[in-house]
Parts: sequence; C-alpha cells; structure tokens
Amino acid sequence: MTTLILVEHQGHQISRATLSALRAAQALGSEIHLLVTGYQVQEVAQAAACLESVSAVYVADAVHLEAGLAENVCATAHSLATRYSHIVVAASSYGKNIAPRLAALLQVAQISDITAVIDSATFERPIYAGNAIATVQSRDPIKVITVRASSFEAVKGSRKDTAVPIHPIDAAPDTNLTQFVKRELTVSDRPELGAARVVVSGGRGLGSKAQYDALLAPLAGKLGAALGASRAAVDAGFAPNDSQVGQTGKIVAPDLYVAVGISGAIQHLAGMKGAKVIVAINKDPDAPIFSVADYGIVGDLFEVVPALEAAL
Ligand code: FAD
Repeated sequence: MTTLILVEHQGHQISRATLSALRAAQALGSEIHLLVTGYQVQEVAQAAACLESVSAVYVADAVHLEAGLAENVCATAHSLATRYSHIVVAASSYGKNIAPRLAALLQVAQISDITAVIDSATFERPIYAGNAIATVQSRDPIKVITVRASSFEAVKGSRKDTAVPIHPIDAAPDTNLTQFVKRELTVSDRPELGAARVVVSGGRGLGSKAQYDALLAPLAGKLGAALGASRAAVDAGFAPNDSQVGQTGKIVAPDLYVAVGISGAIQHLAGMKGAKVIVAINKDPDAPIFSVADYGIVGDLFEVVPALEAAL
C-alpha cells in the first residue's frame, strides 16, 4: 500500500492545504510519496523531501506545467498513479479540478472532501451542507481522495533528519486542451482566510461596502484576523468573492470566528461551524447564528463593533 500526494504550491512554497492532506495520508498508515509538478520547482521539491513521513518525491518540471492546468497535471500524474493504492490531494480549487479527471482516467470513483480516515478504505465526509456525516467505503483498487484541509492539522513544514530522494520524471506532453490566460490575485496584508487563526466575517447587516470596510477592517486589524463574508454580502459587493465563507465558499475552522450582521443560514454555517469559538453580533435575538454561537451579543452592530474594537 502506497499513497501518492499531489502537491499544490505557489511556485516556492507548499500550500498549507497540502500539509493537511499529508496529515490525512499519514492516517492511512501507508508509505507516502509526493508528486511536485510545475516549472522550476526545485525549491518546492526540496521542501517536500524534508517533510515528515514522506519516503520519496517525484518532480515533473516543464514549462507547460507552470500554470498548474488540470489537464496537463493530470496527464503527468496519470502515468504514475497506476502504481499506487491511494491518490490524495487537498479539496481546494486545485485539487477539485484535478482529482475527478484523474479518477475518470483510472476508472474509479472519487472519494470527495473527507474529514476523517477510519481505515485505508473507509472515510467520513460531510453531506447535506454538513448536516450529516456519511461513512463511505470504497472497494476500488486505487482510491482517489480529496481532503478537507480544515479537518486535518497541517504537518509542520520541515523535519530534522535528512531529505529523502528526489526523482525527476518526464512530464506528459502538453495536452493543448486549455490555455492559461491570466491570474488575478487579491493582495492583502491579512492572514489567508482558509488558514487564519481568527476570522471576522460580515453579512448583509453591514448595509454597504463602505460600512463593511469601516467597521470590520479595524476590528480585524486589532485581532490579527482574516476578513470573511456571507454570500449576501459578497453578492451585494461589500467584499470580494474569495472572502465568501460557506457551502459554496471557503470552509474555515479558526480558533475564533466573529460573525457580524450574519443571520446564520444553513449554507453559511456549513462553512464555519467547525470554528472553536464563535461570537455572533446580531440585532435579532432569534437569528439562527445564535444556535451555534458560544458568545452572542444581541444589539446594533454599528454600536457593538466600535465598542468592542475600543475595548480591544
Ligand atoms: P441576511 O440573511 O439578510 O442576514 C442579515 C442579518 O443581519 C440579519 O440576521 C439581521 O438581523 C442582521 N442585522 C441587520 N442589521 C443589523 C444591525 N444594525 N445590527 C446587527 N445585526 C443586524 N451563504 C453564505 O454565507 N455562504 C455560502 O457559501 C452560501 N451558499 C449558498 C448556496 C446555495 C445553493 C444557496 C441557495 C444559498 C447559499 N447561501 C450562502 C446564501 C444563504 O442562504 C443566505 O442567503 C446568506 O448566508 C445570508 O447572508 P446574511 O446572513 O449576510 O444576510
């Protein structure tokens, strides 16, 4: 039994979600290999070779792998994948783009978004927006698994003993099925939403983008928090799309989640109810957000948030 993890990275650094996928792979109890694809990715491969419990690293380095296009990554991963019992990747945009293609090429079912490993063939995964947990078992010879990163603590970035061997492999030829056009990244000094220890999220109750910015940015600054938003706030243009928390946004599990002017619709709760401590500020005492909150403040957010910030 051997597991292959598809490494997601930003050119120099392995993503935190991949380090969580590695933690899930450790629970499978098998030998673990990593596959790094990209262009000029020696730095990433070196970091991968130093990770705890990894026994080999494969690297496919080619210009047409630079943008991480799923079709090309998949073509290269497929040539290796048939040798493995498990293929593991984080359930990020990257992993969700690659894993289904790879599963189809291998003619197996994908096991999506796992939150726990019971044994090497049995996994838990949330269904119905996190309202039920399904235990799923696969008899497929190769298990293609995506991992919900917030459910597994990221493995530390490096270990003390020597690095394992790095094996260069040939990249499959460019599929020419898709073309990389451009990447637009949100530049921010704040922690990344998916990995932040503290998240401050705003909802429609904030009323406008100007008020979202004026109230939440200082509070997030004081707490060293990432900024999140409900879908209603994103749809209304208060916050960028990539700050949406929920079923169709990001799944977060910070130590502290502060929900401001968010009603707590089931689709929002699906993205944040795994937070360790939840604080809700809402003027409606019957808002569903209070059903998951550890601390609730019933009041006008335009008074409560500045008072809270001043107190901090
Ligand atoms: P509202 O429901 O309008 O709530 C605003 C809240 O602010 C109210 O509770 C109100 O009491 C409070 N408020 C107003 N003024 C004040 C004030 N002055 N002081 C204090 N409190 C105040 N939603 C998500 O968030 N994430 C998702 O990923 C997501 N995915 C979805 C997927 C599908 C398929 C569908 C159908 C819906 C999805 N939604 C998602 C939408 C979701 O159902 C809700 O519509 C949305 O979460 C509501 O956002 P909100 O709480 O900001 O707005």
